[in-house]
Amino acid sequence: MDQNARLCAKKPVFTRRMAFFGATAASSGIALARWQRALASDFAEPKATGYGIDELPVDDTTAAIRACLEARSDALSRGDRKAFVATIDQRNPTWRRIQGDVFDLSARGGLGAAAFYSPVRVQEKPFGYVKAFLEVSPARGMAPAERTAWIFSRQSDGTVLHAEPTNDELGMRQTTTVGGIVLSHYEWDADILDRVASVAQRAWERVSSVIETPETIRPIISLNPTYAAHSGLRGFSTWAAYLPGSRTTVLLRSLESFGAGPVTMSESEDSRLLVPLTHELTHLANDCILSIVKIPHWMSEGLAEYVADNFRTREFVSAVASNRQWSLDKASEIIEWGSDVSRGYTGNDVSLAYAHASHGTRYFIERFGIARFWELAREFASSRRWADSFLTVTGVPWNDFGADWFRWSKGISAA
Ligand SMILES: [Zn+2]
Repeated sequence: MDQNARLCAKKPVFTRRMAFFGATAASSGIALARWQRALASDFAEPKATGYGIDELPVDDTTAAIRACLEARSDALSRGDRKAFVATIDQRNPTWRRIQGDVFDLSARGGLGAAAFYSPVRVQEKPFGYVKAFLEVSPARGMAPAERTAWIFSRQSDGTVLHAEPTNDELGMRQTTTVGGIVLSHYEWDADILDRVASVAQRAWERVSSVIETPETIRPIISLNPTYAAHSGLRGFSTWAAYLPGSRTTVLLRSLESFGAGPVTMSESEDSRLLVPLTHELTHLANDCILSIVKIPHWMSEGLAEYVADNFRTREFVSAVASNRQWSLDKASEIIEWGSDVSRGYTGNDVSLAYAHASHGTRYFIERFGIARFWELAREFASSRRWADSFLTVTGVPWNDFGADWFRWSKGISAA
């Protein structure tokens, strides 16, 4: 057993703490930090659409995909479940159920009910599948606002169905080591592995440098090309997840999969994964340094958002300006209970609680440094008395710190 294994093999705690990446937060126009922008430009997709749709060379496969997408779109707009189901590959029960959810959501007006998908490029995949790169318009006839990649399976009559590979087809996982990271993946993802490795390395370098992680931690990133491959990856805006107690593994959606979802025309898929991956790798490192369930939510989630440079500043500044700033204790409570419908918190409340946590953490680290952050975490984990621990480690009473943080928050600008 190497030192890393020892470090990460303490008693497992199977509490789930999931990242909350609301769709609003992802597209709220928060300025990307320089390190995120650098990545985006590294991976700016070669323009897939150098020509208009009318001029697109149409082969049989592209025509079949277009027909399938047309039928899907028509079925959704008419609310015709049977016609919708006829566009879905039926061999995989999980995939069938997920697409049933998509239909239900769409019928309620959610998830781009009127969105129109158009293929601009196709790529062969194993087992007779095709990966299609699609442009997504808000409605038929409108300019595309987003792009995505879906998988289609070829049928014997020349048509295609919207699909995902089955578990049997995916076969055994393989591992590839890059830098200090292990990628656990299927052969299926060979075409995107380099790009994921690059994002993963950048995310891990960021985590290691900002929170001074021990070099012995070697995270495993488990890449998942199918939507419901892992129960930890649920929801249309969950791109990555860390299950507390594992101390080894972050789950990540594969680039160019249905689960990775659409990106805006100017955004790269790679940079989309960077923030959630950095957030979850921070949880993993935190858990290896000190059990994540032993510290307040504002510290664990705040640190993950701080390292990922995902401050949701606009939301925070707006709350501060209208005197709706919460205490960090309140933010922790909302993060803990946000998904419990009986408490009545909205998605916006939870997102705002994360904004509080990230700014609280930033203020703490700017004032006392990261070493003192871990000192406080350790002290509280052993004493279980928050106010005493805070005073012992910082020399400042908790209530005074709260008042100082409120004053500091007034000076933040959303620029
Ligand atoms: Zn989190």
